[in-house]
Amino acid sequence: MVYYKTAEEIEFLRESCLIVCKALTHVASIIRPGITGNDIDKAAEEVIRDHGAVPGFKGYRGFPGTLCISRNEGVVHGIPNDIVFQNGDVISVDCGSIKNDFYGDSAFTFAIGEVSDEIMQLLKVTNTSLYLGIEKAIAGNRLGDISYAVQDYCERKNSYGVVRELVGHGIGRNLHESPEVPNYGRRGQGLRLKEGLTIAIEPMVNMGVKEVRQSDDGWTIITRDKKPSAHFEHSIAVQKGRADILSNHSEIEATLANNANAHQVGVLANVLENSPVGLE
Ligand code: MG
Ligand code: MG
Repeated sequence: MVYYKTAEEIEFLRESCLIVCKALTHVASIIRPGITGNDIDKAAEEVIRDHGAVPGFKGYRGFPGTLCISRNEGVVHGIPNDIVFQNGDVISVDCGSIKNDFYGDSAFTFAIGEVSDEIMQLLKVTNTSLYLGIEKAIAGNRLGDISYAVQDYCERKNSYGVVRELVGHGIGRNLHESPEVPNYGRRGQGLRLKEGLTIAIEPMVNMGVKEVRQSDDGWTIITRDKKPSAHFEHSIAVQKGRADILSNHSEIEATLANNANAHQVGVLANVLENSPVGLE
């Protein structure tokens, strides 16, 4: 069952999503070689609680952290731990919050210290594919239009592997609602998009093969070939004309620009120039 949201409910979702982005912005300000996943997890939880919200992932199906932190070959669902981030690491940070009974959900992948051009390209393509998907998330289109836009750009145009086993999702009073939002699919297929549909779009893109497996900790999803993976996520509300992006990465990107220990991914400015997607 798909739950369409009222304007008021969408504002509750936005509030939760923006709290998530404040937590991710704080992460962007402190992330560097030498810090651990547990350090940024604790810092993110403080930001969320300071805003009168609670972490959305903590306790969800038994997940222990505020953040999912997935390092290098980690795709998603990594458990925060005491492994020290190294120069050259790729760290995907996924965050959720709950306020007013509504979830927020957004993710960003950080490049630590000096990383290869190859990795920066993976991050840039993955982030861009998110906005290309959002561009299709308008009333009257089909779910498959979003899926196709992401897959076409990542796989056909850039020869990366798009993960099949994990997908985006509806979001609201539940973290994961119908419909599923795959990052692969066919144009013109699937659910007709209507105003009030709120979904999380979250490309998970591997530098190498698309295949993944679960690691021994029972949570972390890693690439089969151990090559790096990237993950960016926005929660959005479908509208006529253009999607309403409920999360916002602009402060994260602005903060990264001032953090000498992490690299700017920087597609947002290009997207603003070249696309009708609304980022206000
Ligand atoms: Mg997420
Ligand atoms: Mg999600």
